[in-house]
Amino acid sequence: MENCACNTCDAATKKLYEKAKSERIDTIWDRALAMQPQCGFGEMGLCCTNCSMGPCRIVKISEDGPKAGICGATEDTITSRNFARAVAAGAAAHSDHGRDIALALYHAGDKTRIRNEEKLFKIAGEWGITVEGKDTVQIAREMAERALGEFGKVFGKLQFLQRAPEKRIKLWDELGVAPGAIDREIVEVLHSTHMGCDADYRNIIRQAIRAALSDGWGGSMIGTELSDVLFGTPMPKKVEANLGVLKKECVNIVVHGHDPTLSEAIVLASRDPELLELARKQGAEGINVVGMCCTGNEIAMRQGIPMAGDFFQQELAIVTGAVEAMIVDVQCIMPSLATVAKCYHTKLITTSPKAKIPGAIHIEFNEQKSLEIARRIVKDAVMNFKNRKVEVFIPDDKSEGRIGYSFEAIIKALDRVTNSFAHPSGTVKPLVDAIKSGVLRGAAAIVGCNNHRQPHNTCHVTLAKELLKRDIIVVTTGCGAHACIKAGLMDKDARKYCGKGLATVCELLDIPPVLHMGSCVDISRILVLLSEVAKYMGVDISDLPVAAAAPEWMSEKAQSIGLYAVASGVYVILGVPPAVTGSENVTGYLTKGLESVLGGRFEIENDPVEAAAKIAAHVENRRKRLGI
Ligand code: SF4
Ligand code: SF4
Repeated sequence: MENCACNTCDAATKKLYEKAKSERIDTIWDRALAMQPQCGFGEMGLCCTNCSMGPCRIVKISEDGPKAGICGATEDTITSRNFARAVAAGAAAHSDHGRDIALALYHAGDKTRIRNEEKLFKIAGEWGITVEGKDTVQIAREMAERALGEFGKVFGKLQFLQRAPEKRIKLWDELGVAPGAIDREIVEVLHSTHMGCDADYRNIIRQAIRAALSDGWGGSMIGTELSDVLFGTPMPKKVEANLGVLKKECVNIVVHGHDPTLSEAIVLASRDPELLELARKQGAEGINVVGMCCTGNEIAMRQGIPMAGDFFQQELAIVTGAVEAMIVDVQCIMPSLATVAKCYHTKLITTSPKAKIPGAIHIEFNEQKSLEIARRIVKDAVMNFKNRKVEVFIPDDKSEGRIGYSFEAIIKALDRVTNSFAHPSGTVKPLVDAIKSGVLRGAAAIVGCNNHRQPHNTCHVTLAKELLKRDIIVVTTGCGAHACIKAGLMDKDARKYCGKGLATVCELLDIPPVLHMGSCVDISRILVLLSEVAKYMGVDISDLPVAAAAPEWMSEKAQSIGLYAVASGVYVILGVPPAVTGSENVTGYLTKGLESVLGGRFEIENDPVEAAAKIAAHVENRRKRLGI
């Protein structure tokens, strides 16, 4: 472990990794090294623990090893079942997030807690909710009830599927993959992958597709849309990013996790004059709230709160010695934070009954008393300022970028170049024109996590730069967005990385070439944008010159995202192979076979330069097919 080097392109990460080493604190990279060599059966998806006759494993490297599990399950069955279960877990995580937002809307109680009435009315119209004679709170409550119904309704299909282009909806119906209730689809994956149930890999993947679609067009979309209703639709704004946003003289509070209900309340509480006065009495200059991972994206997009860091930087934030409290809710929170926090004065505060960590302080959050609980948490952080133990070291690395590109914000930017005499505003026409003329060759989404199997941030950033120079505009979410803003790709100056066409488009629209569209659930914003472009052009999503990549993905949520993107007709490159490579049939089906069924497919490519070349080739292929 002494020789372990942190393989990142980010300067702040490097410096704090060195500090962690000198203070004998193990981080993600050290544990990854200690884990080597990792189990080959698990890596290839060839291990099954679905019943107590197992564990079973399929041996491929020798002729005489077992070729089926004790029940007779083959490598195709085992790998596809494992993959489907991962997708179901990812869909469950996003969908539970969406459900919590719907519950928060249900309990909003008074009008002041609904910051975007316009969007409330828009969705009400879309869902056929009558608004006449009802006040805002009543409409919000009815919408929340309808949204909650999406998780368990007995008949019918998901409401938001209607947003997809007609051809796609028809295809889903023909294939029998249009999801009904969200929870139902997830349960069905768990049922059909139980011992002695579904053994047909194509059918198992078909059910996984239903679960994944219930995430993208269901749970995630509900999470995004209702968060906008509650907290406002993101609009362009400048923010700072990287661990340099921590402030030595201030009480530093890091909010980490996913649910904006908690982080929004913490931001509000941190502005309370009484708590600010208390902070001053403790010798601090103020209260500095910063965000990490997806919750960081949520409050940055809406409130301009600094983005402290990505998935791999969560332990390093505490290593600065400057964090009074790290407040977490659900998902992507390393349990190791409790161990790291113990070496400093940092209070690790868990808030969700769904995610407790031994060694952390648990203060349970609930939507009905959100501000009251947030005030208590912020007060705890303030009172901890005096307890700093080690010399504080905050790297001076931070960058600035323009973020907040919701679908609505993109339409607004496009309106800048709409001829108001000749064309209606509020459409995707200027974007379609730019694509048709070839000024923009296409668009790509860079999403997903960090993974020790790939150099930290390097893949996100290299891929983005390679695409920009080919005049392919990039949209990003999640930890990919953290990587891009840290590398300066959301700054006006980033036009220097672009080809001439893209640079001109950025200039005219006054946008950066990499558009931050939000958190992982906000990938649903990308689905909406793709649908609107496809509808405007009269084609399906699979006909568009677009692609997606998750170069450093690691979570089950990323597998669900990847699959719903493929099922929506998108070509998706994964920088890390999913655990299916033990089966040639399953790997072949995901990377080739699905294209003839859905128009989208996976590609596995760990080299970001190669990935960019493949995306460019795909984009040109689609342009040719469209005759543009
Ligand atoms: S379900 Fe079959 S392959 Fe899996 S552990 Fe049980 S016997 Fe083994
Ligand atoms: S991108 Fe991945 S690591 Fe980052 S918050 Fe989302 S799921 Fe977690």
